[in-house]
Amino acid sequence: MKKKNDERVSNIKQVDSKSNKDYAKVNGGVFVFTKSITVGELAKSLNVSASDIIKKLFLKGKMVNINQYLDDDTIGELCLEFGYDFKKEETVNEEDFEKLTFEDKKEDLEERPPVVTIMGHVDHGKTTLIDAIRNSNLAGEEYGGISQEIGAYQKSYKGKKITFIDTPGHKAFSAMRMRGASVTDIVVLVVAADDGVMPQTIEAIDHAKAAKVPIIVAINKMDMPGADPEKVINELMKYDIIAEKYGGENIVCEISAKKKIGIDNLLEAILLEAEMLELRANPKRYAYGTVLEANLDKGEGAKATLLVQNGTLYSSDYIVCGTSYGKVRRMTNEHSQILKEATPSTPVSVIGLSEVPQAGDHFMAFPTEKQAKEIASKRQLKKLEEERASNNGVTSLDDLYKKINEGSLTQINIVLKTDTTGSAEACKSSLEKLSNDQVKVNVIRAASGGITESDILLAKASGALIYGFNVRPTGLVRKKAEEDKVEIRLHRIIYALIEEVEDAINGLTKKEEVEKVAGQAEVRNIFKVSKVGTIAGSYVTDGEIHRDGLCRVIRDGVIVYEGKIETLRRFKDDVKVVNSGFECGIKISNFNDVHEGDIIENYEMVEKE
Ligand code: GDP
Repeated sequence: MKKKNDERVSNIKQVDSKSNKDYAKVNGGVFVFTKSITVGELAKSLNVSASDIIKKLFLKGKMVNINQYLDDDTIGELCLEFGYDFKKEETVNEEDFEKLTFEDKKEDLEERPPVVTIMGHVDHGKTTLIDAIRNSNLAGEEYGGISQEIGAYQKSYKGKKITFIDTPGHKAFSAMRMRGASVTDIVVLVVAADDGVMPQTIEAIDHAKAAKVPIIVAINKMDMPGADPEKVINELMKYDIIAEKYGGENIVCEISAKKKIGIDNLLEAILLEAEMLELRANPKRYAYGTVLEANLDKGEGAKATLLVQNGTLYSSDYIVCGTSYGKVRRMTNEHSQILKEATPSTPVSVIGLSEVPQAGDHFMAFPTEKQAKEIASKRQLKKLEEERASNNGVTSLDDLYKKINEGSLTQINIVLKTDTTGSAEACKSSLEKLSNDQVKVNVIRAASGGITESDILLAKASGALIYGFNVRPTGLVRKKAEEDKVEIRLHRIIYALIEEVEDAINGLTKKEEVEKVAGQAEVRNIFKVSKVGTIAGSYVTDGEIHRDGLCRVIRDGVIVYEGKIETLRRFKDDVKVVNSGFECGIKISNFNDVHEGDIIENYEMVEKE
């Protein structure tokens, strides 16, 4: 239900299908239409008779009747002939709300705080600066320290707010941008005064420039004996970052993040830059913005940090976020305070969504639950169709080689699972960089954790190979992959993984050694034997375990050790093989840290046919 006294304007222009007023009308000599219309409707709008139109078209060799729909070109030609100019206005489908351009009345627009991202070379002091700003007790601040990490925070300075994005660096900034989300208004480029311009300084400049975001330079570590700000300013000129004192547009501040010197000046500079940018938004419309972070909270379900970019988000609003939707059940800020409303540029943490959205997804609030639900399901359907459309039927490396050599493949889809979130991001971006003019590498899922059945499903549905870095599938998952003919490629070295995909793109096949898994056993009891070490009392769940050959220990899908089996016993006897369904004692060479529940996998390396 729409809330009482809710005077917010909707973001989507509603097109009334019953009257033609809204989608086809003459406005100051210009015929404006938004969709295809019939001969009768056009005649009415242009104030001519339908038979005039039919006659004109007949003379051009087109036979039409009064109820026939006209294409855009014909509508244009007819308008000109009847003395009107014409314009086709694109309407945005509700479910494509990312494409929305907001039309706000000038009087509704209000100043909004700038959103700032801090970038720079590693060790130049980005994190220290973020901490210095967030922990500084600035005059006139209402709250104390930050009590909840939500990925962004606001600071008040001289009665004005500034929003800081917490993740420094250009990688996160560009990851967002790649997903079509530009949230940053101003970049603060941190350069250490004793080190000067470094490779990542240049990268950060490139990224900020590509996004057309103004750069404020913060020359940091001014407390260091070797600090030379002039040298930094000179070096930056090469990259078209020109300080104001040399006639350029870039504000330069000299600071020490560690000693908290010059922070006030920097904030002042940010406010000055923001003023020049004339950042405005309309608080009187339904909220629209971007997901900065999202995760699954054990107790509270899907939890997301949203940056409101236009409109006002109220607690208990209905929102669509990526493909999920829900009623905002609780909205808090970085001080864990419950908020009733969040105005433009405010970052908030919300719970109540049906599933976890992705960072970079857009969200929008809707007047009714019904609308939000409908739009979310349309978006889900569309996503599914897109996934299906990108299905190229390639789920193994052999298919890949074949199709690339035939020249019939333009996209490689990859599901990537790794041991940590960091390695997932690194690996994903390296893989996607391999794309060339002919073949695009598309990582459709990059996440940390073991390879699961849902990964196989996704790979099968979208025609993708699965790449695992430092992770393993369980025996069951491996079987499912075999059934579904989805190939799982496992690597322990990122470089080798990248090289394999690169070779595939270039159509190069290599004779290679591949591993052949003999079987898996689950550790059920641990026996510590003095002088011998830890014996893993295990049950063979899959295949068979051989005493010879290699083994690895897997915990929650992640490899924790690789080595050899030292002894394999059934009761007191040394044996060579133990079959599936039997118990055994396994001692691994030089490794005693096995836990109950670990999986011991036995394999050998063989040359691939
Ligand atoms: P980041 O990699 O850019 O996030 O850099 P950090 O914030 O982690 O800082 C790297 C190192 O520089 C740390 O040891 C900081 O204590 C130190 N550092 C940061 N700012 C200053 C500063 O203003 N002066 C001095 N002397 N050291 C600083």
